Amino acid sequence: MLVIGGGIHGVGVAQAATAAGYDVVLLEQSRLAEGTSSRSSKLIHGGLRYLETAQISLVRESLHERELLLKLAPDIVKRQKFFIPVYPQTSRRPWIMRLGLGLYALLSGIGEYGRFHTLPRNEWGSLDGLKTKDLQTVFQYWDAQTDDALLTRAVMQSAHQLGARLICPARFLSARIEPDGCLVSYRADGEDSACRSLTVVNAAGPWARAVARKFTPAPPDLAVDNVQGTHLELPGKVERGCYYIEVPHDKRAVFVMPWKDNYTLLGTTERHYCGDPAAVVPTPEEKAYLLDAYRHYFPGRSVDVIDAWAGLRVLPSVRGSSFKRSRETQLPVDNEAKPRLVSIFGGKLTGYRATAERVMTVLRRTLPPSRPVAATSELPLQLPIAPSSPAR
Ligand SMILES: Cc1cc2nc3c(=O)[nH]c(=O)nc-3n(C[C@H](O)[C@H](O)[C@H](O)COP(=O)(O)OP(=O)(O)OC[C@H]3O[C@@H](n4cnc5c(N)ncnc54)[C@H](O)[C@@H]3O)c2cc1C
Repeated sequence: MLVIGGGIHGVGVAQAATAAGYDVVLLEQSRLAEGTSSRSSKLIHGGLRYLETAQISLVRESLHERELLLKLAPDIVKRQKFFIPVYPQTSRRPWIMRLGLGLYALLSGIGEYGRFHTLPRNEWGSLDGLKTKDLQTVFQYWDAQTDDALLTRAVMQSAHQLGARLICPARFLSARIEPDGCLVSYRADGEDSACRSLTVVNAAGPWARAVARKFTPAPPDLAVDNVQGTHLELPGKVERGCYYIEVPHDKRAVFVMPWKDNYTLLGTTERHYCGDPAAVVPTPEEKAYLLDAYRHYFPGRSVDVIDAWAGLRVLPSVRGSSFKRSRETQLPVDNEAKPRLVSIFGGKLTGYRATAERVMTVLRRTLPPSRPVAATSELPLQLPIAPSSPAR
């Protein structure tokens, strides 16, 4: 099997396929996690806000994956407290929050960390400088946080230990789908090479549509947009946990999160993006938007931006707010009966393992039977030994 793209989905598929007993080669054009998988909000979560758009099965699956990752990767995925402050202007009223958090708890199986509560008033002063004027209540619940690039490298390490080969940097150029497999050409070390594979997985994230167009015959096109989301790194760490704040003028939810030893991460935005995925950068408007919200809720904290970056979500093309678009992963194939090519569009960092297993289920229609050597739901993920990773 050939996998294109060394983001979380590509390495996840490489791990699932080698665990299932297949030979896998993964091509990555620059560095592991150089794309979206180092530019996410770094949350391993069910996605509380997806309950608003009734994406119940997505939330349930993500909560299940969160628990699994906490078990399999305790050095890389950590539980984190989340706080939701409510003011008179907050659009999601306390009863809606209770309902949402109650459902979230139910979907997560109500363990010790499934429960939510309201924070006693005498603790409000310890919330990292959160504005307490007019504060009505603060909800606290649990989710999890990771380092997305580190997680990607850890999954690749696991795939490698099972026998997957990574060629990096190596850029996929084109492929021809033939009756007995795919003939793939790529460029590595300044030279063009070719290889044969029974199946190809296009896990090129925001490049996936461009990659799919380089197949002959061309697979059916999928209407998707790249939607930019920016994060800002600020000095000083919010120590108590992550904050879920509502931007006063448009009511969007934005996260304020502790990051590394001494930083705070603020994000994210939603902006339609049509350019080269490699060239995506935060705009001044996005920075101002995030900082205005941050100043509003944390008036005493520094807004000297240390670093800023943007990532791209792949979402189904629809008119209107990105917020309401489905976050379900789409896996279009070239041929339903006997797929040679599967593309991964969209998805979540949190659900990468479930997505990879779904890709394997699709490809089993084509692949010969194999002898599994491991199960991804039982494979521990260790801190990667190789040091190279994007700084984000
Ligand atoms: C702003 C933002 C915040 C997010 N926050 C969260 C979150 O908190 N939690 C969560 O669960 N999910 C989150 N997500 C979603 C999650 O980050 C993505 O779903 C996930 O990282 C996508 O991974 P990927 O492997 O599909 O793509 P990518 O990580 O972009 O990987 C694609 C790879 O393909 C490579 N590639 C492209 N073309 C070629 C080629 N021709 N040859 C070889 N290699 C190629 C690229 O170099 C890249 O490394 C967020 C997304 C965004 C944008």
